[in-house]
Amino acid sequence: MAEKPKRIRVDRARGWLETEWADEGVLRVMLHEVRKACPCALCEGLRAKQAAQLQMITTDQTPSVDLADVVPVGNYALQFRWTDGHDTGLYTYSHLKQLALAASSRG
Ligand SMILES: [Zn+2]
Repeated sequence: MAEKPKRIRVDRARGWLETEWADEGVLRVMLHEVRKACPCALCEGLRAKQAAQLQMITTDQTPSVDLADVVPVGNYALQFRWTDGHDTGLYTYSHLKQLALAASSRG
C-alpha cells in the first residue's frame, strides 16, 4: 500500500497541512492535530499515560509549538520538525491520509 499524495502544502498562516490524493482530493488537517498524532515512541508513551488517567475535565493539552520544517523521508513518509526541537516522529503517507480523512469527516 504505497500510497503517496499528489501534493503536499503547509499553510503556516492558517496552521494547516494540505494534502491532495488521487482518490480523495484535497484534505486538510490542522498542524496541531498532526503534532498530537506524532507516532514516535516518546509521544506514544505520553498518550498511553494520559489515556490511563481518567480525565473528567478535558483540557486542551495542545503544546504551543509551531512547525519548523518538513523533510521527505524516502518515498513513504514525512518527518516533521517542530519549533520545540521535537523531530523524532516519522509520518507515513498512509498515516497522514488517515489523519486528514478523520479531520475532514469532523467537518
Ligand atoms: Zn513524538
